[in-house]
Amino acid sequence: MDVRAYAALAPKAPLTPHMIQRRELRPNDVLIEIKYAGICHSDIHQAREEWGGAIFPMVPGHEIAGIVTEVGSGVTLHGVGDHVGVGCYVDSCRDCDNCRIGQQSYCLNEAAYTYNSHEMDRVTPTYGGYSTHIVVDENYVLRIPANLALDVAAPLLCAGITLYQPLAEWKAGPGTRVGIVGLGGLGHMGVKLADAMGADVTLISHSPNKEEDGRRLGATSFLLSSDRAAMKEAQCSLDLIVNTASAISKLDPYLSLLALDGTLVSVGLPSEKLSVSAFTFLAQRRRLAGTNNGGIPQTQEMLDFCGMRGLGSDIETIAIQEVNEAWDRVVASDVKYRFVIDTASLGG
Ligand code: NAP
Ligand code: ZN
Ligand code: ZN
Repeated sequence: MDVRAYAALAPKAPLTPHMIQRRELRPNDVLIEIKYAGICHSDIHQAREEWGGAIFPMVPGHEIAGIVTEVGSGVTLHGVGDHVGVGCYVDSCRDCDNCRIGQQSYCLNEAAYTYNSHEMDRVTPTYGGYSTHIVVDENYVLRIPANLALDVAAPLLCAGITLYQPLAEWKAGPGTRVGIVGLGGLGHMGVKLADAMGADVTLISHSPNKEEDGRRLGATSFLLSSDRAAMKEAQCSLDLIVNTASAISKLDPYLSLLALDGTLVSVGLPSEKLSVSAFTFLAQRRRLAGTNNGGIPQTQEMLDFCGMRGLGSDIETIAIQEVNEAWDRVVASDVKYRFVIDTASLGG
């Protein structure tokens, strides 16, 4: 079917209206009418080719929330009318050691990402959520809990799971001191989730004006990363830090905040290489890790957790026609805290 979308036609080109084709339903496919699509900083990195080789035209968007309007003959997991979501990938090999244990975001044969990628045939380009409809295999579609509105749920499909995974794997909870670096789309979900898990949360930000919001969202402490005295004072005081910043590559100031056996999980994807000093790293037996969004079972677990707690994203809703301006505001760290596109603005 022909579907309305917005696409970047070349690196750094503004997004413009563009028609794409969605495939006819296969037996295990669901057709989703997209209601909302979150704007992740990864959309901007990729469309502006900051990570190298990108595929154009590019229809970004991997924080998709919508309603099932049709199902293939073999579909058992979802039904017409269901509220569903799609995240960072739409398929994976299903056969490697990681896929077999539900760690599809670590597929050893490279998953089919939701856009700027190809389906598992390695030929057909994938197009993301800045569009009115998408067709996805039922196994890669998530259930959105009934008590979460689709607009505030959309960002959970990337920002939510990307922070839930490190917090859950490193057991953030009562008695753990968690630092979240960066209060953007990912970071604000990190503050909310870590607080909901019972951890003591410190927001570490390069923006002096984000302290109040950080505290409102669940942080009990605030560190301004440019305040050398405060950063020194806070050395060796945290057990787990999740770095969500889109543009931090020198990790030493943050690693220094870790106490004995503490772990810094870096999830931000700046184009520059990450760097650490060996001295900062080995002091306090520190650990450095990375995580990549999350597998389907854990993404569903995160959505159910957010449903139980009534946890959605703090959003600013925009029409698709405002997307280029919104991207510039994301780059300027000027969004509270996730832009979500109302896809009704794409027209019927
Ligand atoms: P975002 O909304 O733009 O938030 C990023 C935050 O980083 C900003 O709000 C800002 O927080 C901080 N920041 C920005 N520029 C900075 C600078 N020059 N120095 C220090 N801090 C700076 O972006 P996002 O959508 O949350 O994504 C964050 C990063 O994670 C991106 O690189 C994205 O590609 C990546 N990502 C990774 C995964 C994964 O699976 N690992 C998934 C999604 C996204 P403060 O103003 O509070 O400092
Ligand atoms: Zn993302
Ligand atoms: Zn695999």
